[in-house]
Amino acid sequence: MKFTHLKGFEDWWGEDLARREQMIARLREVLDRYGFSWILTPTLERTELFQRSVGEHTDIVEKEMFTFEDRGKRSVTLRPEGTAPVVRAVIEHRLQPPLRLAYVINNFRAEKPQKGRLREFWQIGAEIIGFASPLADVELIQLGVDLLNAARIPDWHLEIHSIGTPEERRAYREVLRSYLLPRKDQLCRDCQRRLETNPLRVLDCKIDSPSLRDAPRLVEHLSPESRAFYDQVKEGLHRAGIPFQENPALVRGLDYYTHTVFEFKTPHLGAQDTLGGGGRYDRLVRHLGGGDWPALGFAFGLERLLLVSQLPPPDPRPPVWVFGVDEADLPTALQTAHKLRTTLTYPVQFYPDPRSLKARMRLANRTQAPAVVLIGTEERRAGQVRIRWMDSGEEQVLTLEAAVEALKRRLRSSREA
Ligand code: AMP
Repeated sequence: MKFTHLKGFEDWWGEDLARREQMIARLREVLDRYGFSWILTPTLERTELFQRSVGEHTDIVEKEMFTFEDRGKRSVTLRPEGTAPVVRAVIEHRLQPPLRLAYVINNFRAEKPQKGRLREFWQIGAEIIGFASPLADVELIQLGVDLLNAARIPDWHLEIHSIGTPEERRAYREVLRSYLLPRKDQLCRDCQRRLETNPLRVLDCKIDSPSLRDAPRLVEHLSPESRAFYDQVKEGLHRAGIPFQENPALVRGLDYYTHTVFEFKTPHLGAQDTLGGGGRYDRLVRHLGGGDWPALGFAFGLERLLLVSQLPPPDPRPPVWVFGVDEADLPTALQTAHKLRTTLTYPVQFYPDPRSLKARMRLANRTQAPAVVLIGTEERRAGQVRIRWMDSGEEQVLTLEAAVEALKRRLRSSREA
């Protein structure tokens, strides 16, 4: 039997992985500058956590979770998103607000895989807990913009909306349902079902339906306080010079959002056009058993950022090879490699077999080594090493200390070139 990876799950290696690590490092730097601290929660949680936070009638909970019974017959779920586990951890460990927590985590959703849509995908996310001011929303969105710039994402745009409070949404839900019921035939199959369970999700249906274009607007059903909050967020964005579009159909998939919701989108990803999204979730901490703490957050999909990022790949760092000429030279060669590693900030590889030197030199060439350190019987006896510089073919016989200095000089100048 030949084993292959599961559909929607990915292997990463080589230059792609190096680009990915570089991207994560750059994004981490931005979050550090904003004063976030880091949190890591387990991959597996109790299923109820997501049912209660994300919501029973959301696509995620209804059909996308990897849920199974563990050996103790408990229902457990591979986390489909990062916010609920972070809030769970905050409450459980009595972390005190104000908090700014960031994470890089894997999530699992049993969606149909396609470009930019995986079953295991990674997110870099940020949560701010303890602030009710609309300026926190503006700051969070500004952070999103800074992350997109650090990731060199071209042509992104920002969409925002306010979905008010759960009470306002409940009232609007009825208005929307009464409007859509007589027009039910114009809706897609999924939306006909959503009309009963979660009519707001009908608004962001990807299939264009004439009845949706003139549907009553959610903003028109917000209280004056909610509208004022929304206006303050928009004003703050204007003042920060962050361009945005209002999208009345933006409701987001999760139940726990209140007021501001937003998404950063790109024209370069086809159907999966959202790079990241988030919003305010003032009721979630309370809802999961914590204090009455307003909160907000977002997450970006790493794989999607990588698909559109214009960051140049990091410089490759081919190794300096250390070869023992004959079998008897190998132990000294191993020691030499170790000494080089403690003094050079450059990768050093040891070749532990006495294979033909010609074949090993071919390997050094193929791996683009800048230099090879050779140890033969003569060098060993004299306490020296032979360096071959691969670009010129020139050789030098030196003490190990002198060799280290020569390597440092040459490697530095080759990197500066
Ligand atoms: P969401 O929690 O659905 O708002 O997702 C936030 C971000 O995570 C999205 O904007 C995507 O960038 C990313 N994302 C969500 N689902 C997937 C998926 N199935 N595959 C890859 N990335 C995803």
